[in-house]
Amino acid sequence: MELIYEISKPGRVGYTVKKFDRETEIKIPQKMLRKTEPDLPEVPENEVVRHFVKLSTLNHHVDKGFYPLGSCTMKYNPKVNEYTSGLSGFTHIHPFQPEYTVQGALKLMKELEDLLAEISGMDYVSLQPAAGAHGEYTGIKIIRKYHETNGDPRKFILVPDSAHGTNPASTTLSGYQAITIKSGPDGRIDIEDLKKHLNEDVAGFMVTNPNTLGIFENRIREIADLVHRAGALIYMDGANLNAFMGHIRPGDIGCDVMHFNLHKTFSTPHGGGGPGSGPVGVKKSLEPYLPIPRIVEKDGKYRFDYDKPLSIGKIHSFYGNFLVLIRAYTYIRMLGKEHLKKVSENAVINANYLREKLMYHYELPYTSTCMHEFVLSGKTFKKYGVRTLDIAKRILDFGMHAPTVYFPLIVSEALMIEPTETETKETLDKFAEVMLKIKEEAETNPDILKTAPHTTPVKRLDDTLAAKLAKVRYSKA
Ligand SMILES: *Cc1c(COP(=O)(O)O)cnc(C)c1O
Repeated sequence: MELIYEISKPGRVGYTVKKFDRETEIKIPQKMLRKTEPDLPEVPENEVVRHFVKLSTLNHHVDKGFYPLGSCTMKYNPKVNEYTSGLSGFTHIHPFQPEYTVQGALKLMKELEDLLAEISGMDYVSLQPAAGAHGEYTGIKIIRKYHETNGDPRKFILVPDSAHGTNPASTTLSGYQAITIKSGPDGRIDIEDLKKHLNEDVAGFMVTNPNTLGIFENRIREIADLVHRAGALIYMDGANLNAFMGHIRPGDIGCDVMHFNLHKTFSTPHGGGGPGSGPVGVKKSLEPYLPIPRIVEKDGKYRFDYDKPLSIGKIHSFYGNFLVLIRAYTYIRMLGKEHLKKVSENAVINANYLREKLMYHYELPYTSTCMHEFVLSGKTFKKYGVRTLDIAKRILDFGMHAPTVYFPLIVSEALMIEPTETETKETLDKFAEVMLKIKEEAETNPDILKTAPHTTPVKRLDDTLAAKLAKVRYSKA
């Protein structure tokens, strides 16, 4: 596809604006005005529209097709979210405005905090963190502050071997050392290994529930008791909240701190590197450590409270990614309690339906009934010279996004599939058909997989080179 500069022709302007007299009408100081005209493309309006509509279809996105990217909860984003987050009362305000002029925005934020607290069973929520990983960092800082206040920050955070890479990363960034806890043969936390590592130097245990294999940690209460008895806290990675929202509340099963990925569980688009939001919820005893400012309400008036001497401080400019908060708020209010519950029921049913259709054709390393996602292994295809990466690339030829691959790390040649609740039976059947066809191809014509994709705007890219080039660019800048 051509660049917009390549379709530009001098004089083909797509806009009309009043001519300004540089000397008298423009209020910008002369010395700050540019000396030469900017080199802008000149394209008529209809061609501009066509250009960008075409561009928007080159990439895969959830509005274009199935997107079963495990761990990421790529659900459909209702368009009403875009309507509300685009209302001028929200988009035309500025964080420096006095509080009394932005009461509606503060009210929305406070109500969202309360809704998330109710959904999770946590007592207080801060909306500041910008994504899940940032929420983890905030949560571990809170755990550290709690222990420091009690006289000893401790040294270690325990993290299961199935955890997302952000877990040990946030642990390290918060000044702790991560210690890996093994998973048992059923894919759940090995409690004996956990017991072995629990001692008075352990500050906390990070648990993802359901874990990244899509399996519910059904001994979570027992785990929480063990961890609490050692004087440590439970951090819950809430990225998989879509699996049980409305049915189980992390706060009721022993979790002390958790994050929400608003951009996963509560729609709001993600995947293109756009802004996310990773609020953190805590139990009552940890409230003093939450980031400042807190939003407080008295007699229907809202204000920011900075007077929290034990707070870990500020962790984001202003108050978080506000427009993402509006989308999540809209999503929750549109669905209400009953339908939020249905969301997770349908997410689980869809995942189990697909799992059942695929498990006789692809290896399923952990056989427990799954929650909202499941993990297959492509290792049986090695004998045809085909890797999971080849399967993933071939899926793109059928107009679908590939599942997450090579994660979790404890499954070799992993394919992590999460269909989400919003997909129809027909879409799930179509995906299963594609997966069976690919299996057949692997057996009879592996080259078609190894050279895939064939129908996408760009063919197979060299990921390693791309990463290296990006580094060169950054280091030059
Ligand atoms: C997505 C995810 C994270 C990180 O969340 P981001 O919002 O991408 O920073 C952490 N843990 C798990 C299990 C996840 O799926």
